[in-house]
Amino acid sequence: MNKTLESRFMPVLVLLLLAALVLVMGLWVMDHSARPQVASGGPQAVAGAPQYEWKLVTTWPKNFPGLGKGPETFAKYVEEASNGRIKIRVYGAGEIVPAFEVFDAVSQGTAEMGHGASYYWKGKLPASVFFTAVPFGLTAQEINAWFHYGGGLELWQELYAPFDLLPMAGGNSGVQMLGWFNREINSADDLKGLKMRIPGLAGEVFTRAGGTTVTLPGAEIYTSLQTGVVDAAEFVGPYNDLALGLHQVTENYYYPGFQEPGAALELIFHKPTFEALPADLQAILRVAARASNQDMLDDFTANNNRSLKELVDNHGVKLKRMPDEVFIALHQAYQEVVSELIAKDPMAAKIHASLEAFSDDVRPYHAISEQAYINMRQVVMDAAGK
Ligand code: CA
Repeated sequence: MNKTLESRFMPVLVLLLLAALVLVMGLWVMDHSARPQVASGGPQAVAGAPQYEWKLVTTWPKNFPGLGKGPETFAKYVEEASNGRIKIRVYGAGEIVPAFEVFDAVSQGTAEMGHGASYYWKGKLPASVFFTAVPFGLTAQEINAWFHYGGGLELWQELYAPFDLLPMAGGNSGVQMLGWFNREINSADDLKGLKMRIPGLAGEVFTRAGGTTVTLPGAEIYTSLQTGVVDAAEFVGPYNDLALGLHQVTENYYYPGFQEPGAALELIFHKPTFEALPADLQAILRVAARASNQDMLDDFTANNNRSLKELVDNHGVKLKRMPDEVFIALHQAYQEVVSELIAKDPMAAKIHASLEAFSDDVRPYHAISEQAYINMRQVVMDAAGK
């Protein structure tokens, strides 16, 4: 009986095994033909599909938490989503070009992409400051809404187009800390004569308020504070500031960061290179930018609070709320600075008008939603003794 069954089903079994073998071999061939054949720079026809290997230069130290992780996450998303058709190698500041030459390197096509902050380019492009952060301006949630549903991104792309650059939002730090001060600030007068590392529009505001402003890449802040080149420095917030070790050279850590209430980072593409890509790869890059933009904010939100606890509990950092009087003086200075900027730069005026209109609309809504909710949550937690 068993023998009969065996002999009857043996040919079927052999056929099934052969079919399985053919399937496995087929899958192996498909998988291996899809592996990236890496070419440098531009497209190269390999196995019928162009493959790309890109360089992405950044203004951050290599593998820096938060800010530096953003472009690495973007590169990972792109490689996975394109099945290896685009491989992007991320370079830290100084590996190919110094931090503050990222804009020129991508504009000239030396690198296909860059990651940094638009306000670093205000020397050549004053209107660029509006796309990182405006003092007393939009939060992360608000500036992302302006970029993607308020016309902000189109204006940014218009500003960068003459430089052969295509910008996209490339992450956000959330509300920053006001920074590290080697002395206490109790009034607006205490700002006079103070030397501070503070970039962007806020730097001009600080100068107008009587301070002296220095713009330095993140990696140079520690030494500058330690040696007294600056008396104060803002960088980002607990997550990044702990990584730079700023608590080792000063202990007064002031909040809130009026200067960058939601600093947007940028991913910049060499525009002709981007536009030469097939439509599906362009879509993958856009979606990866949107995804990594949000991922950075998530990373900062989770790690800022962990790092703050470590700074205060383990390193004796003194948290201090800057008095309102100082903010009111800084806001007056901001209004003067921005009025002068938009009076002499039509593109700055156009961008500022869009930003102001959006801000005027979103503020009343957030007053009764985000702000009202956070205030109410604090009330009930206080009542519950938490
Ligand atoms: Ca900052």
